[in-house]
Amino acid sequence: MGAQLDNAVALDARVMMQTYGRKPVMFVRGEGMRLYDDEGREYLDFIAGIGAVSLGHSHPAVTGALCEQAAKLTHVSNLFYVEHRAELAADVSSLLGGGWRMFLANSGAEAVEGAIKLARRWASTHKPGAFKVITLERSFHGRTLAALAATGQASKQDAFKPLPEGFLHVPANDVSALEAALDGTVAAVMVEVVQGEGGVWPLTAEYLSAVRRLCDERGALFIADEVQTGFYRTGPAFAHQAFDVVPDVVTVAKALGNGLPIGGFLARGDAAEALQPGEHGSTFGGGPAICAAARATLAAMLAEDLGRNALESGAYLRAKLEALAASTGAITDVRGAGLMVGVTLARPVAAEIATEALRRGLVLNNIGTNILRFLPPLVCGKPEIDTLLTTLSDILDEGIV
Ligand code: PLP
Repeated sequence: MGAQLDNAVALDARVMMQTYGRKPVMFVRGEGMRLYDDEGREYLDFIAGIGAVSLGHSHPAVTGALCEQAAKLTHVSNLFYVEHRAELAADVSSLLGGGWRMFLANSGAEAVEGAIKLARRWASTHKPGAFKVITLERSFHGRTLAALAATGQASKQDAFKPLPEGFLHVPANDVSALEAALDGTVAAVMVEVVQGEGGVWPLTAEYLSAVRRLCDERGALFIADEVQTGFYRTGPAFAHQAFDVVPDVVTVAKALGNGLPIGGFLARGDAAEALQPGEHGSTFGGGPAICAAARATLAAMLAEDLGRNALESGAYLRAKLEALAASTGAITDVRGAGLMVGVTLARPVAAEIATEALRRGLVLNNIGTNILRFLPPLVCGKPEIDTLLTTLSDILDEGIV
């Protein structure tokens, strides 16, 4: 380890709350898909800041827009009009097909919290007595208390009970379970179109259309949590757009700021009118600097046709992983959409593979003991995927794990 990393590890151990088991590497610079550590070693990044840096690191259009606006005006609060805020909402609304209203926050968890409040507020006038939100087992919606209560993973919740009430978890892709749970007490159904943190588990087209149908029939809002899937990660601008469904509420964050903190939720129809003046707020959300950066992010994504690349590179990555699965038997399942790909390993060595890959210059992400998740920047091409597959196959061949 270099001296800068040594010092960082020691200081972190003393002053940071130890909520993460960090890998022993310190990144100091990035460009596109490449990261550089404190000793100048180069790495290929296949996690992109957990799916946030979709345009690649240090994109000049985003940096330029941020610096230009920060030099002019960074923050005045939501009490006043500023440049870029409503323009950003209009940009995201038009990606969703137009006619949406947006609330701007600072993270995915806040986006989810806001969507839950919106659903309860909507129910107070449209479905009195309803307040529950149905979510899916194995889902992930964030770490704040209501978002954690919505998350369908007991291991993340147990130490923090009692959690806010009003959340029901049903198995994914099981229409009858949803049908049985969606009664007069339910204000909304919230799903990730592809479950991300749970291990990359896509919902089926049949299930998504059943969510839409049951919400319409029983009077509940359909919330698509697109925090991880949004902004071309799976190919279309939003993952639900690959299906014949339109949700009532969409949550966003991650890639919207290409790594800068921003989140938000959008609603259409009567859901868009639910929250009244004074009922929700944020000091920082919708500031002009972050909104300028987010607008530049969206413009660059369109100009670089990242949705098409996500589809093409994603198909190539999945085909290569399937070939590796067939030739080694080390992988039992390959799944995902666009450049959101997960594999299940035959043995519980996902963390060991990620550690060895890092030593060889690849940044990988493991979920639990037997899932590897790939969320590279959407600029990822065939040469980077070939490097990934060669390294993975070497690690498996050498019997290191
Ligand atoms: N919702 C989904 C689908 C996510 O994947 C995440 C984070 O991974 C969140 C919400 C929470 O976002 P944040 O970590 O920005 O609070």
